[in-house]
Amino acid sequence: MSNPAPATVSSQRALTDGATKRCPQCHATLEFRSHYPILTVGVMLERTGSETGDRMRYERAWVCRNGRCDYRELLGDA
Ligand SMILES: [Zn+2]
Repeated sequence: MSNPAPATVSSQRALTDGATKRCPQCHATLEFRSHYPILTVGVMLERTGSETGDRMRYERAWVCRNGRCDYRELLGDA
């Protein structure tokens, strides 16, 4: 006999784009982004020869869908 799989696949799976959870701030939906663009404008950039692409980097983040809330939870480098 095979074990019946639970209907709900829950928690702690590897996070993928489009995963959602509840926003702790406004209780709307947070959406997971594995490559959320972070602007680094304002940070002192040293000249390294090529400056292109240095003003933006990507991190894993939860981002609130509620535009008025603008909550985001950065998880670190992608
Ligand atoms: Zn929110």
